Amino acid sequence: MVKQAAMPPGYEGPGFFATTMDKTIGLARANSLWPLPFATSCCGIEFMATMASNYDLARFGMERLSFSPRQADLLMVMGTIAKKMGPVLKHVYEQMAEPRWVISVGACASSGGIFDTYSVLQGIDHIIPVDVYVPGCPPRPEQILDGIMQIQDLAKNESLRRRNLPEYQALMEKYEIK
Ligand code: SF4
Repeated sequence: MVKQAAMPPGYEGPGFFATTMDKTIGLARANSLWPLPFATSCCGIEFMATMASNYDLARFGMERLSFSPRQADLLMVMGTIAKKMGPVLKHVYEQMAEPRWVISVGACASSGGIFDTYSVLQGIDHIIPVDVYVPGCPPRPEQILDGIMQIQDLAKNESLRRRNLPEYQALMEKYEIK
C-alpha cells in the first residue's frame, strides 16, 4: 500500500495550509534522495540486499541509484577503503553538488574495522565529513535503512542557509574541500 508522506509542521484551516519554504524543500529532498553507492567489499553485498525486493529501498524514493557524483546527493560508503582509494573517494565527494550527505556503512568504512593495518584508512572521516555512521560487520539491511531514515531526518530539518554558515565553511576548510 502506498503511504503518503506526513505533512510538514505548519498552520491549517478550512481550505488552506501554510508552512515554511525550508520545510517544503526539506520534505521534497528527504523523499527523493539519489544515492551513490561507493561499495568496495562485503558491506556492498548487504546494500544489494537492501535494494532488493524484501527490503525495497524504492519505498524511500531511492530506486534510482546514481553512479555519477554530479547527479547524486547521498554518498553511501560501504566496505574497506584502502589508503590508495582515499583520494578517489574524496574526488567523488568533491564532484557532488550541495546539499550532499554521507553515510558510512559498516565498521570498515567507519573505523577501518578489523583491518588495523598500514594500508587501510582507519575511517573515512579522516578525509570527508560523515553525517551518519551505521555500525556492524556487516550491518543488516534494517540498520542500513535506519541510517537512511536518519539522513532523511537531517534533510527534512536542515535550514536552507546551513551550507552558507561559517561553521559549515569551517568544516569544509578543515577537510580542505572547496
Ligand atoms: S565491516 Fe565487515 S562486512 Fe563490512 S566491509 Fe568490513 S569486513 Fe566486510
